Amino acid sequence: MQMRRPLVAGNWKMNGLKNAVAEFARIMEGYDRALKARVDLLICPPATLLTTLPVVALGSRIAIGAQDCHARAHGAHTGDISAEMIADTGATAIIVGHSERRADHHETDAIVRAKAEAVRRAGLLAIICIGETGTERQAGRALDVVRFQLAGSVPDNATGADFVIAYEPVWAIGSGLTPTPADIAEVHAAIRYALVERFGEEGEKIRLLYGGSVKPENAREILGVADVDGALVGGASLQADAFLEIARSYI
Ligand code: PEP
Repeated sequence: MQMRRPLVAGNWKMNGLKNAVAEFARIMEGYDRALKARVDLLICPPATLLTTLPVVALGSRIAIGAQDCHARAHGAHTGDISAEMIADTGATAIIVGHSERRADHHETDAIVRAKAEAVRRAGLLAIICIGETGTERQAGRALDVVRFQLAGSVPDNATGADFVIAYEPVWAIGSGLTPTPADIAEVHAAIRYALVERFGEEGEKIRLLYGGSVKPENAREILGVADVDGALVGGASLQADAFLEIARSYI
């Protein structure tokens, strides 16, 4: 049996009004038997669509996720949403530590780890994002940065059922630039090594996604790299055709 089932996840970021449900319906239509046999799909819409999409998605086997959560279950945190509230919508996953949140909201590894713990507490799947900046890569520090973020952001006793890691080089997000397949392979191998060192056999079961300018044109090459178990897709997940085409790399 395949140890890690591929996952193609879409991060809609701050995009999508009510009419985006039609685009989601097109993704549902395109998630045919051949795709279902080979790859899991997850769509993470903005929080405003979290009460709608899990209902629309019922029976489709497409998972719905959030893009962030608060570490606490409830309380005086105006504007925030807890993992328990997200679970209450029918969503089953939450992205934590996306570089845009690390940059815009000053989220540290400790904060990301607390959020990842909260996701597990709520019984959902946490997609924990890590990745170096362009300056860090140019300085030859990519591997060190990624290892450090991984150690600080992933909770103890992680399992493949609770966590997914997304390697997203910050300089590749939304830029049209991607690392070479060899660079992706090097980072993913280092992440896998660190996960197995820390979590033993369970470290083999944690899926590693690549994210950063994945498009239909480059998906097959990127998803074919060793230890790449899927993709976290931003821009190209907003169009059903492009998103499905990326997933079809697995057929
Ligand atoms: C992302 O935001 O997680 C992402 C990978 O974006 P894009 O695919 O647009 O680079």
